[in-house]
Amino acid sequence: MADLPLDRPAGILVKTTCVDFPGHLAGSFFLKGCNLRCPYCYNRDLVLGFEDAEEASTSLASTEELFTHLERRQGILTGLTISGGEPLLNPYTPLIIKKARELGYLIKLDTNGTLPDELEAIINNSDLRPDFIAMDIKTSPERYGIEICNKSSPFFGKTEYWEKKVRRCAEIVSSFPAEKREFRTVLVPSLVQKEDIKKMAEILPQDASWQFAPFRNENCLNPAYNDILPYSDAEAAELVEYARTFVEGAELR
Ligand code: SF4
Repeated sequence: MADLPLDRPAGILVKTTCVDFPGHLAGSFFLKGCNLRCPYCYNRDLVLGFEDAEEASTSLASTEELFTHLERRQGILTGLTISGGEPLLNPYTPLIIKKARELGYLIKLDTNGTLPDELEAIINNSDLRPDFIAMDIKTSPERYGIEICNKSSPFFGKTEYWEKKVRRCAEIVSSFPAEKREFRTVLVPSLVQKEDIKKMAEILPQDASWQFAPFRNENCLNPAYNDILPYSDAEAAELVEYARTFVEGAELR
């Protein structure tokens, strides 16, 4: 970790946000690289890498730039969200957590909820344990192996493998106090229907904050998803109401 170069393009820096870290004015850093290939993902460049090195260097900030930003905003921002991509796979994540904490920031970690060993390692380390965790839950756990995972993964199609990972991550995140965690679902019509909501709800704690977001059919990783119409407001509200019959804290963001 000590040898990681700080001047390389590492992630997208959102300098200030009041919607990402509940209760905090925060910065967000979206790190490169992800083990999944969600067909609706709109972070194509972070997941697959930038096609052009120049574009990467203008779009991505280095960790040095992130740290300078955090030093300048000390006392104004109170939190930092580390997101991705998948930050649990990124070698810079521990370094960023330690530095931001030294500067007095609270840490929110976003995870796609498929890496229980890495998640456990970070939360069991007192220097790295985040103050808040947000876990994605994308569809029924048994659908990850075909519809969410990377088709070039050796575990593609291994339904039980992925289901176990998602369930274990949900258990780990559930061990956090209720006010320090949330679960998030994008309302992608092909992935989130009533039966999926029921199956997702089965692995969430009853006191979960379950945040639903509308699907945006633009720049999707799988171009076919650009042709899928998002749910109407009424359809989305009905699904979230249905989710609320299982988990009272289900909300449409
Ligand atoms: S978990 Fe899915 S949505 Fe999130 S960055 Fe990876 S591919 Fe994109």
